[in-house]
Amino acid sequence: METKYIFITGGVASSLGKGIISASLGKLLQARGYRITIQKFDPYINIDPGTLNPYEHGECYVTADGMETDLDLGHYERFTGIETTRDNSVTTGRIYLSVIERERRGDYLGKTIQVVPHITDEIKRRILLNASKQPLDFVITEIGGTIGDIESQPFLEAIRQLRWELGPQRALNVHLTYVPYLAAAGELKTKPTQTSVKQLQGLGIQPEVLVLRTEHELSEDLKAKVAHFCNVDVAAVIQSQDLPSIYEVPVNMQRQGLDDIILKKLGITPGIVPELGPWHDFLERRKNATKIISIALVGKYNLQDAYKSIIESLAHAGTYNDRRVKAVFVNSEELNKANVAEKLSDMQGIVICPGFGQRGIEGKIVAAEYGRTHDVPTFGICLGMQMMVIEFARNVLGYSDANSSEMDSGTPHNVIDMMEEQKTITQKGGTMRLGSYECELKEQSRAWKAYNGPSSIKERHRHRYEFNDGYRSDFEQNGMQCTGINPATGLVEIVEVPTHRWYIGTQFHPEYSSTVLHPHPLFLSFIKACIDGTAEA
Ligand code: GLN
Repeated sequence: METKYIFITGGVASSLGKGIISASLGKLLQARGYRITIQKFDPYINIDPGTLNPYEHGECYVTADGMETDLDLGHYERFTGIETTRDNSVTTGRIYLSVIERERRGDYLGKTIQVVPHITDEIKRRILLNASKQPLDFVITEIGGTIGDIESQPFLEAIRQLRWELGPQRALNVHLTYVPYLAAAGELKTKPTQTSVKQLQGLGIQPEVLVLRTEHELSEDLKAKVAHFCNVDVAAVIQSQDLPSIYEVPVNMQRQGLDDIILKKLGITPGIVPELGPWHDFLERRKNATKIISIALVGKYNLQDAYKSIIESLAHAGTYNDRRVKAVFVNSEELNKANVAEKLSDMQGIVICPGFGQRGIEGKIVAAEYGRTHDVPTFGICLGMQMMVIEFARNVLGYSDANSSEMDSGTPHNVIDMMEEQKTITQKGGTMRLGSYECELKEQSRAWKAYNGPSSIKERHRHRYEFNDGYRSDFEQNGMQCTGINPATGLVEIVEVPTHRWYIGTQFHPEYSSTVLHPHPLFLSFIKACIDGTAEA
């Protein structure tokens, strides 16, 4: 079958859940046996979100091949279990950069470079790229932003052209909008949807399917009205009502026949509806997991999206341990020795979050000390692991001035130091140690046991600093073991304190590879340890 292209656009407002709808559709098509990929095109000008503050754009998700990307790629992977690559995340900045580089090379000699056709051609090339590298039945392309944004116009123009070139059997548009409820009038309002579709039509794109985000059930009459005004079949008006969990969205979409209608419109006979057995098992288990386990997320960003993958990984691991994880944000900037017991004593486990820069690190160190000295299961990720190391150096090895050279370049005890290869790098964008690297596990260590005993694993990274190997024997003789090592460089990837109930720090980010059907082993083992320590367990 020739590759078919599904475009997901959004109207009326942002944050309607385009990423979840894209991921859900991907999941449903995958369940029917199709080879799929999901990609995100973002209209902002940064080359990637790597240099963005999480307050601007949430977490930066990292692909196995080392691209810093939008957090929606995390949803795509968690829902489908299919790894994304650098081809799955494209921004306006990347598009322009390639065109400008080509212009400088002389590829367009004699020509004026314009948005149409040069920028739109590059967008189209990138949309088609994934399927030129591997056999794919469906490419789902999510367009960031909202219809009406000035900066998304070239993307919509590229889609219009592609739809025309590929024809109606190979390209289709799903438009996600919002149906607000006006409490004073007691009514759901469809006008914003009508307006948004008209805007799309004005750009030459007639959506084939509408997904209406709503907080209240939509009546058949209302759907019929929307269908009538928007030139869409009634069966192709799907509602996306608020649900207790994002993981219920695929099931809800399947119940309303989202995948079925899309297949039919693309000229495919849908066949039997897949059962989604393991997915339903997950949902069932999640529903039955009513016992709550509280895990502190010690970090500096008071924003759910900033730690998205960690929160989802905890939720996956909680479900498979029959617990509901309550992730409690604890602001590391406000955490100190005087209040740490008050803030952490009700927690069954502590996650010390990743991050950059000085702000809030002393609070993370205090949390690491509290976890270590009170035998509370503690999981340090990237900067969190580095803070565990510094805490140990200060309070166990007696180097009271120990620090990371990221925070204090002149520290005499730089137990965390800049990686050698990073020392000559001056550019900030995309230059960290990024993506998947191998890590050899020490046999019988807690990490090794958590992973079920493989000699080596692969995990994703995003860092510039590392455990300073010069201190390794000092640490090991005093009780902190280095149990994961990168074989090529000797870089310390995992530290742990084996005498503790569960005290592990990883230089890598396990949260990027936990999925609904394959929860991450370290998170599973961490949550299990947290449960084992509670009275009711
Ligand atoms: N700032 C630290 C480093 O660059 C940790 C990065 C992170 O937590 N992702 O090494």
